[in-house]
Amino acid sequence: MKITKILRIIDTRSTAEVDGRIVRLSGTGESCICELCGRNHEIHAIVKIDDGSVANVGVGCAKKSSPVEFKRFDDEKKLSDLRDKRASFLDTLAERFTRYGDEIRFFDPTNSKEFLSADWKRLREYAKKIRVLEESIKQLGE
Ligand SMILES: [Zn+2]
Repeated sequence: MKITKILRIIDTRSTAEVDGRIVRLSGTGESCICELCGRNHEIHAIVKIDDGSVANVGVGCAKKSSPVEFKRFDDEKKLSDLRDKRASFLDTLAERFTRYGDEIRFFDPTNSKEFLSADWKRLREYAKKIRVLEESIKQLGE
């Protein structure tokens, strides 16, 4: 059985807040028999296999069996998250400048310069990370 595409990852474990952080609790999820190893896993990957059918396997097993497919899935997820973050940051910037409107004239030029350069830095970081992921996905092939 060869995995040709990872379609979705489902983590069935419950979450809890521990010291202000959200953690997944092992043993609270719905077990599902893995079509690769036959054991039960709480974190499933729904995958497409080379005969065209869809299978349910454990995430660890999918990673081991098809590291390239897994990396591509991972990169695509990160890329999509980064694009969402950048879009929401651009919305925040647009909203901020609209809100300042006329007041922007009264900004201390020194402060507003710092303010702008921090924004530019953040946008450059997004662009850089996005470029790296796009390149990685391209290298992995279609
Ligand atoms: Zn398994």
